[in-house]
Order: sequence, then C-alpha cells, then structure tokens
Amino acid sequence: MISPPPIEIIGGGLAGLSLGLALRRAGVPVTLHEAGTYPRHRVCGEFITGLDPSTIERLGLGPLLEDVLRHHEVAWFIHDQPPRIQQLPAAALGLSRFVLDARIARAFVAAGGDLQTGSRVTDLDPRPGRIFATGRRRGKPTWLGLKLHARHLELTRELELHLGADAYVGLAQIEGGAVNVCGLFRRQDVVGRGATLLPAYLRATGLDRLAARLDAAELDSSSCSAIAALDFDRHVEPSERLSLGDACAMIPPFTGNGMAMAFQSAELALDPLLAYAAGTATWSDTCDATQAALHGRFRLRLASADLLHPFLLQPRRQRWLAALSRARLIPFRPLYASLH
Ligand SMILES: Cc1cc2nc3c(=O)[nH]c(=O)nc-3n(C[C@H](O)[C@H](O)[C@H](O)COP(=O)(O)OP(=O)(O)OC[C@H]3O[C@@H](n4cnc5c(N)ncnc54)[C@H](O)[C@@H]3O)c2cc1C
Repeated sequence: MISPPPIEIIGGGLAGLSLGLALRRAGVPVTLHEAGTYPRHRVCGEFITGLDPSTIERLGLGPLLEDVLRHHEVAWFIHDQPPRIQQLPAAALGLSRFVLDARIARAFVAAGGDLQTGSRVTDLDPRPGRIFATGRRRGKPTWLGLKLHARHLELTRELELHLGADAYVGLAQIEGGAVNVCGLFRRQDVVGRGATLLPAYLRATGLDRLAARLDAAELDSSSCSAIAALDFDRHVEPSERLSLGDACAMIPPFTGNGMAMAFQSAELALDPLLAYAAGTATWSDTCDATQAALHGRFRLRLASADLLHPFLLQPRRQRWLAALSRARLIPFRPLYASLH
C-alpha cells in the first residue's frame, strides 16, 4: 500500500500543539508550522472550564498541567450590585498561555515533532494530511480583545467577571501570584497604548471601580496583548478540509471553554488521523469522521453560549441578568453542564 502523505499542522496554539504531541507519541511523523515563537503572551482569560481528566490523559497533558491553579467560584459584578458568588460545577484551571503553550511546544519537540517557528504558511489550500489549527477567523472590526497581567491585585474570588457597557472583563488568578485581566470590548475611540489601553477601555465602558483597582496594582506591560476583528459567526466547513480549535468554531470567551474546545477537538481528531496515518482511512473519510464528531460534541454548547452572549454585553439585556442575579438565579448552570 502507498503510505499516506505526512501530517502537517498549521498553527501552534493549543489545538495544533496538543494534536501534534498526541500524534508523535503514537509514532506518527508530524511537521507543525507556527507563525510566532514561544513563549508569547496571548489575548486569553487564562482559565479553562470543562476540561475532563480523560482528555488530559488521552493527549498526554497530565505532567504539563500538574501545577495549575484550581478555581472553584466566580464572583459576578453586575452593575452596582454587590458581587454574586457562583460555585462552578467543576474546578476551572488557571495557568498563563505564556507558560502553557511553551510547555506543550517543548513536549512536542521532545517527542520528536518537527516544530517550525516563525513559519507563516501563506498557501492555505486544503490537501491530504494538512490540518488547520490557525485560530480565530477574522471578522468585522467590531470587537476587540485586550489582556494584561497585574500584581498586587486582590480578588474577591479566584475568578471575577465584570459586565460593562458593550463589554465584559474577566480576572483570573494565574501562576506566581499574578492576575490575568482580559476583556472583550466593542471598539470605540479610546485613547491609550500598551498598559494604559485596557484601563482606558474600562473607564469608557463604565467599569471605573475596576479601572481604579488596576491603577493601584502593578501592571506588567510586557504582557499587554490585543486582538481585533473577532468573528463569532458560525461557518460550515468545506469537506476535505480539517480545521480544529478556533479555526473550526469560536465559543464566546465568557465561557472560559475555548481552550478546552481546542484540546477536545484535537482529541476528537486523533483516532481518525491515526487511521489515516496507518493507511486504513482515506483523507476524505478522515475529514468526514472528524467533522461529524466535532459537530456532535460542540453543537449544543455553542448554541447555548451564543444565546447567552448578548445578555453579558448589551446594557438593556444586562438589566435582565441583574434582576435574575438579585433573585439568585444566575442562569449559567445548564451552559456549564454542556461544556465537557
Ligand atoms: C478576549 C478573549 C478571552 C478569552 N478567554 C478565554 C478563557 O478565559 N478561557 C478559554 O478557555 N478560552 C478563552 N478564549 C479563547 C481561547 O483563547 C481560544 O479558544 C484558544 O486559544 C483556541 O486555541 P487554538 O489553538 O484554536 O488557536 P490559537 O491559540 O489562536 O492558536 C492559533 C495559532 O495559529 C498560528 N497561525 C495562524 N495562522 C497561521 C499560518 N498561516 N501559519 C502558521 N501559523 C499560523 C497563530 O500564530 C497561533 O499561534 C478567549 C478568547 C478571547 C478572544
């Protein structure tokens, strides 16, 4: 039998790296192209919900996640109400992307993976053996993501979520006593650069108290990151194209589930790709089997997250959320239950 073309992964975020690692540990040759280098800061809330031990084990991530922080509660700050505390159904994991991505990249290389950093692939045509783990798709320039790390910033709980006008911001405890501050904002004319841009956006969206807390903290300007043109629309994947992680579907960030979805999509692709590498499945069958598995696993959670997302962003709908919260009915339990 003719051996199938080698596996080529484009994109070394969590989906691409974890898939590459699992394939290498199964003896499959893999080349991974990553446009950037490691370590690097990324716009991300840096807490992971819904990541099961079975996925961690299947992808061989256990030793890399041994020291992660475990967060059990979220403090919701909705308008001027005192914070509402919500217990998470399972602990969320806390670790910076600066550490996490670099750790998996090192493990991939140690497992014999061919990691090409600083290698942006420009010919993006699908072909057998080629996997797209290229992250978010670009959309209209409506939404902006900003993040930075802070020290000496005391938290009410290990996780905080603050709702502003057309904005929400998450605070998460990460390693080394630092706090990750990350927000999604509707783009507007705000003056600020580097470490001053996030506080300026907080003030512009009515989150003055949070901005004052940042003013009193020590901000790590080297961690400042921004991304624009986020696309939350749903796309149908053409057949014969295998996309994983955000390249397949981006879940609204408030869920803290995008990273788990990146890992889970790698896990779902693993068996079809092993069959392809063994020469027992065609590329077309491999893409079909993976796409069906991704659709089955993610459909419900994407639908519920899409439904709730406007309630976090739009001031009129946030008033509904505030009323429910006063009645101690923060309506996220069914969503969290669907994230695994
Ligand atoms: C504001 C915001 C907050 C978020 N907060 C959280 C959170 O708290 N918890 C959570 O779980 N998720 C969160 N997410 C989502 C999470 O960051 C993503 O779901 C996750 O990073 C997806 O991983 P990925 O591997 O698919 O893509 P990425 O991590 O984006 O990796 C894609 C990689 O592909 C590379 N690449 C792209 N094109 C090419 C090319 N042509 N050639 C070579 N390389 C290429 C890029 O350089 C990048 O490294 C948040 C997202 C946003 C926007």
